[in-house]
Amino acid sequence: MDSVESFRGEVRDWLAANCPEEVRVGSRDRLSRTRFDEWVRALGTRGWAAPGWPTEYGGGGLDREHRAVLTQEMRAIRAPAPSSFGLTMLGPTILDLGTDEQKREHLPPIGRHEIIWCQGYSEPGAGSDLAGLQTRAVLEGDEYVVTGQKIWTTGAPHADWIFCLVRTAPDAPKHEGISFLLFPMKQKGVEVSPIRLIDGSEHFAQVFFDGARAKASDVIGPVHGGWTVAKHLLQHERGVSNPEGRAAGTSGRKGLIDLARDQLGMHEGRLADPALRERIAQHELDSQAFSLTMRRAAEEARAGQVERQIASMSKFYWSELGKREQDIAMQVLGSRGLGWSGDGFEDAEIAQTRKWLITRADSIWGGTSEIQRNIIAKRVLLIPE
Ligand SMILES: Cc1cc2nc3c(=O)[nH]c(=O)nc-3n(C[C@H](O)[C@H](O)[C@H](O)COP(=O)(O)OP(=O)(O)OC[C@H]3O[C@@H](n4cnc5c(N)ncnc54)[C@H](O)[C@@H]3O)c2cc1C
Repeated sequence: MDSVESFRGEVRDWLAANCPEEVRVGSRDRLSRTRFDEWVRALGTRGWAAPGWPTEYGGGGLDREHRAVLTQEMRAIRAPAPSSFGLTMLGPTILDLGTDEQKREHLPPIGRHEIIWCQGYSEPGAGSDLAGLQTRAVLEGDEYVVTGQKIWTTGAPHADWIFCLVRTAPDAPKHEGISFLLFPMKQKGVEVSPIRLIDGSEHFAQVFFDGARAKASDVIGPVHGGWTVAKHLLQHERGVSNPEGRAAGTSGRKGLIDLARDQLGMHEGRLADPALRERIAQHELDSQAFSLTMRRAAEEARAGQVERQIASMSKFYWSELGKREQDIAMQVLGSRGLGWSGDGFEDAEIAQTRKWLITRADSIWGGTSEIQRNIIAKRVLLIPE
């Protein structure tokens, strides 16, 4: 048996022992946050939450082939993939731009899911115009003192640390006086005020800083050079680092076809409504084209050829595709889709409204579709302003 196949056996055995039925995607049991966290911690302790990171920084040190095996085996049993701001955004940014000391301090706890991070970018007056941010950090000895406010901070009520854009040179041109700073959330000087959403959840928050403290050594990249770091992280957020994953994440083309088949039945092997049939077929074609484009982008990235702007195209397209998919699901389900709870297509009848709403947010966070269009116009199509 070659090393890849013996690794496959090792992964299977480990998953069977460590990924219980109730955490798997589509399980009928409602998964508690604690149970999910336990699963991700187990995966992280094994080094497989961040399988591509070097082992010295808490990763699995796996090459592409072994990572693919891990992904295949996890998908086969519907094991949920770990996802956190630390794993998908901050970790890759520190790997690319952090010092060795910063990597040793911050990456292993992310990999083990011990420290939960949130993202402090947006402010009441700085969303799309992010560089207009006003939160200030002033150096006092070997610490920064942070004052200001963030908004729409996902996961802030549970987060241990924040990666935050702060203004360190107030008189510099707006893109040149920003630093990318890390500091703990659980300290005097940080107040989290949850924002209640339409479904009753309080996952978002406004965060107020009044004398919060950060170690001066926790600036990632150059002091006052945080705009470049911020943009680098956004590339990861928008999905360029894992375009194949993004393509896979446009939730289940097959799911939509199955949903229509289950809900509406078939007439002589096809859906009776020709307009709906055409809409689903077009969506299927567009999804496949997107998936292939992202695979090509991933190959180009591996060959060092990809332009960073693919991130904006990818983010724009998958979020708009996801919205269209949920519009079609809504059309298929009609009044049966007007529910809130449940998860996955299996529970489509009770979860549909919530799923539909979530996809509306996808074209806002990480930069709205309008902003992605602006970037594509300027940097890809090279249309003069
Ligand atoms: C689900 C979700 C999670 C989020 N999580 C976080 C988080 O964890 N951390 C964080 O920092 N932020 C987070 N955000 C905030 C998000 O980054 C901002 O909402 C987003 O950048 C838009 O900013 P804004 O809300 O201030 O809207 P605005 O910038 O005020 O935009 C309002 C409208 O004007 C349009 N617009 C603005 N400027 C232009 C322009 N130049 N050209 C064309 N159209 C324009 C926009 O597209 C939008 O339609 C989250 C948002 C959502 C929805």
